[in-house]
Parts: sequence; C-alpha cells; structure tokens
Amino acid sequence: MRLVDFHCHLDLYPEFETLVAECERLGIFTLAVTTTPKAWARNNKLASSTKYVRAALGLHPQLVAERWREIDLWERLLDETRYVGEVGLDAGPRYYSSMDRQTEVFRRILHSCAEAGGKILSIHSVRTAPKVLDLIEEEVPQGRAKFVFHWFTGSAADARRAADLGCYFSVNSQMLTADRGRALVSSLPIDRLLTETDGPFTSHGSTPTRPRDVAQTIKHLAATRGLSIEDTASIVLRNLKALTA
Ligand code: MN
Repeated sequence: MRLVDFHCHLDLYPEFETLVAECERLGIFTLAVTTTPKAWARNNKLASSTKYVRAALGLHPQLVAERWREIDLWERLLDETRYVGEVGLDAGPRYYSSMDRQTEVFRRILHSCAEAGGKILSIHSVRTAPKVLDLIEEEVPQGRAKFVFHWFTGSAADARRAADLGCYFSVNSQMLTADRGRALVSSLPIDRLLTETDGPFTSHGSTPTRPRDVAQTIKHLAATRGLSIEDTASIVLRNLKALTA
C-alpha cells in the first residue's frame, strides 16, 4: 500500500534526515512543507535527490506578524519550486491582529504563483476559508495554480465552493476522529481527497505523528467513506497523480 502525506513539517522533527530516509525506504509520497523561506535551502537540498519527498516553499500565516519581511526572499525563491506551503491565513485569537499583514503577504504569494503558473499550494485557512477563497478568485485565474486545503475546518458551503474551484483537501486523523470533521469529509468529492499528518503538530499515541502513521488516517478515511482500506489508499494515490500530472 502506497501512502501519501501531503502536509508534514519534516524539518521540525529532531530526526529530519532519518524521516526523509524513512519516507524513501517505505515509499511514502511526502510533501515537506516549510514555515519560513529561510528553511527552503536545507529542505530543498534534502528533497532534491529523493523519489518520494518533495519540499514546499512556505511562509506560515502564524509567523507573518514577525516575519513578513521574508516575503521578498520567498518571492526570489519561487522559481526553484513547484510546491508552495505552508501559506494562507489564520484568524484564530492569537493571530487575528496580524490579519492585514497576513492578507497582504498571502495576496503577494497568490499573485506570484499566478504569474509563474503550474504551482501547487498547501493552504492553511483557520477561520478564514471564505476570505482565502475570495483571494484565490481575485488573484489566480482558473488553471494558473492548484490548491490543496490542509486541515480544512470551514463550513460545508465553503467546502463546496472550494471543490467547485477545483481545490483538493488533505485530511488527517484528528479531523476523522471528530464528528464535525467526519461529516465534512463525508461531503467532499472523493476525487479531491488526499491524506496528511501535519506532523509534528498532531500525535499518534503519545508521540508526534510521522508520515508512516498516515496508514491510520487511511483506515479512518476508509471507515468514514464506507470503502475498503485498499481502495481508499489507491483512490488517494490516484488523486495525488491527478493533482501532480
Ligand atoms: Mn501545518
């Protein structure tokens, strides 16, 4: 069974290099998202010789209050990657005060991606799904980029709007073990579903989730959608192929 972890912060684990090697050994397609463009060089170097691990160029909305100046570096590096993330907006209580700055940075990110063409973005949208969708519609002409909503927590209507725009959704075990998350994931188009860990920000038992633990997510997803584990894994793999084709 081939696994897909389309949103993992590999560089935030002490055993970063070991985990990259583990993804390679187990054949787990992993998107190594980053939170600052300063992490890009190291991630890109480690991922550049792998078959299964890809690095994404990010500027996390939760860091924008402190690091918004790094958008210049982010823009300079964009040519080096097909994958972008983690980017987006966060209107949670701790980050709401930087919303203007976050919006400005995210707009620049979307604009640059639209100009470049062919990018795939892993998007954070805490309490901001409608606004993220507005910005995508305003800045990115159809077909100029592809979007994967990571850990989507918007409404069913927001999810439909995202699906109608062609977006994908990477889901994790924490979503699939909560009633609200299960209801949402049940309503998403099956051909837009990917799996993720968001490790190390989620746990598997008493330790941070690692990409191989996405096997558990496949089990939860299979149960949620009433499919076999094997079929679920192959659907997710097929979706990844369609996204990256
Ligand atoms: Mn994340």
